[in-house]
Amino acid sequence: MTERYGYAGKILRVDLSSGNITHIPTMDYADGFLGGRGIAAKIYWDEVPPDINAFDPENRMIFVTGPLAGFSGLSGSRWTVCGKAPAMTPQEFSYCNLGGRWGGQLKFAGYDGLVIQGKSDRPVYLFIQDDFVEIRDASTLWGKSTVEVREILKEELGSTVAVVACGPAGENLISYAILLADNDASGSSGFGAVMGSKNLKAVAVRGRGKVTAANPEKLKEVKEYIRQLMWKGPGWAELMAKPETHIEVVAGQRVKKDLCLGCAGFDGRIIVESRDGKTRGKSLCGSSLFYLDRALKYYGEQNEVTFYVNRLCDEYGVDALAIESMMKWLSRCRHAGILTDEGTGIPLSKVGSWEYMEALVTKMSLRDGFGDVLAQGIERAADMVGQGAKELIADYVSKAGHLLTYCPRTFPVHGLLYAMEPRQAINQLHEMGLVLFGWLNWASGLEGSYLSSDVFRKIAARFWGSDLAADFSTYDGKALAAAKIQDREYAKESLILCDFTWPVTHTLSEDHVGDPSVESKILSAITGEEVDEEGLYRIGERVFNLQRAIHVREGHKGRESDQIPEAFFTTPLKGHAMNPNAQAPGKDGEITSRIGMVVDRVEFERMKDEYYQLRGWDVATGLQTRTKLEELGLQEIAQDLEQRGLVR
Ligand code: SF4
Repeated sequence: MTERYGYAGKILRVDLSSGNITHIPTMDYADGFLGGRGIAAKIYWDEVPPDINAFDPENRMIFVTGPLAGFSGLSGSRWTVCGKAPAMTPQEFSYCNLGGRWGGQLKFAGYDGLVIQGKSDRPVYLFIQDDFVEIRDASTLWGKSTVEVREILKEELGSTVAVVACGPAGENLISYAILLADNDASGSSGFGAVMGSKNLKAVAVRGRGKVTAANPEKLKEVKEYIRQLMWKGPGWAELMAKPETHIEVVAGQRVKKDLCLGCAGFDGRIIVESRDGKTRGKSLCGSSLFYLDRALKYYGEQNEVTFYVNRLCDEYGVDALAIESMMKWLSRCRHAGILTDEGTGIPLSKVGSWEYMEALVTKMSLRDGFGDVLAQGIERAADMVGQGAKELIADYVSKAGHLLTYCPRTFPVHGLLYAMEPRQAINQLHEMGLVLFGWLNWASGLEGSYLSSDVFRKIAARFWGSDLAADFSTYDGKALAAAKIQDREYAKESLILCDFTWPVTHTLSEDHVGDPSVESKILSAITGEEVDEEGLYRIGERVFNLQRAIHVREGHKGRESDQIPEAFFTTPLKGHAMNPNAQAPGKDGEITSRIGMVVDRVEFERMKDEYYQLRGWDVATGLQTRTKLEELGLQEIAQDLEQRGLVR
């Protein structure tokens, strides 16, 4: 199957306008950009004109796996979809990252990626089975939910086929339309709508190939090391299998472990079955919890509404996390007298109920009445509503319509991470965010907690450049920490390793400090080409710079655009459910509270100065320099930007 270990060797290209099906050699891209986000960004740079609309047939849907896809025990079979994204305001290049098994099947079929371009003149779906690739009629699938389509195609093509589909929201070009794949893996940024704009309902894939490592013995050793590193102690797996471990699961529901293809196994990913046994669906992180508090408040007790709401979003194909921020805005508008139940046709006064969510999701997905306004995305909807509605989102909505979590008022370094990304880069925020959660357990005196301030500082020194990164009371050391996080995370997004597992920042070992070098060892064992930790970060830095260049070419203005919402500078921080006292380690590891903090504007700009300097960019403008881009092997990108006057 491979021309080079770790790769299938070719990327499938399907032009829906002409019906042409061709291949691109993966190695045209993999040498410099590895896989995943790296390859997708380079294809996008080469093929997508900067000024087109996300629904222009010239936009691409670029699906890419990485060199680790298909291997067991690594949590490395995730896949990315990139392109110009309608969820952003303004629209720009963005990405999403999905689990499940679709990506692995694509690789087994002999493809490292799939580029969809053009637009079909009628609804179609794509069927890929090894060398057999066919564009098929989907007129009977159009209008159906993501889950129905998946089931119909499995019935027709066999249960081993993996399917990714858009729902009615995608067909109707809703900004927050998602892609839904097997194991209910979902991808945001509005790519469900890009799929709908191309009249493409689904892509079904089955592969019968295998993946082979260049050095199987070495890979076996690395896997054994990973198992030791990730070991969470006796009884952990049993604990995860119990319904009561998962706060969103209610009595009478059943749960089943549902790991993605190739998972290392240290995750509590589950599928929940409703009490009546008729409905099954994922229960994962934010999407399974986003309605929990409101439903609890409305009904006075926990019931199955939270589960069914999650299912509803998946079936219509809308982003549950964007719905979460939409709900907050609608409630504020109602309290301010700007919107009413009657005027919107949505029972705004019954937030927390099933009726509320059913009306919100269906009206938006079908562009019914006021749903047509919501379909534009929260920022454009707020502009259309007027009457001060826009001010009501200023303090909590990210560029992609999500809530601003892991706030820069708590984490100074996150100001830079937010400022540089088109969407909430949750993988980057998780690096320090999840370490803080471990530290909070220790700070609260939870028995068995080991992540002390001292351990936090050691992790900071190993992963983020210096122990200053663990002192939340100062902006010093944060520019370096941001660059380290970005380089590691862009490499991770190109491999592609799962964010729920990687990097391993802390362990049960004696010093409790994790090991950021494992990722490079995995890659070396699979490809047979030695790459060390620094070498991998160098690839991450290249991919990050490429993405920055794409954004600059699309209108990002460097320093001027590297901003965070104004409210972070002006609205004092409050506690929240996960960290009521907004605790964080301060100088010398002291337990401090960040309540009342705002981001210091002068310090934020100083942090940017330091960051641009570290990146080798122009400090005054925040634009990249020709020297730096060339040093990273991005000569043609430098040349293009120079012709546009966008490089220094
Ligand atoms: S850790 Fe969870 S999300 Fe990641 S690959 Fe495993 S099951 Fe999938």
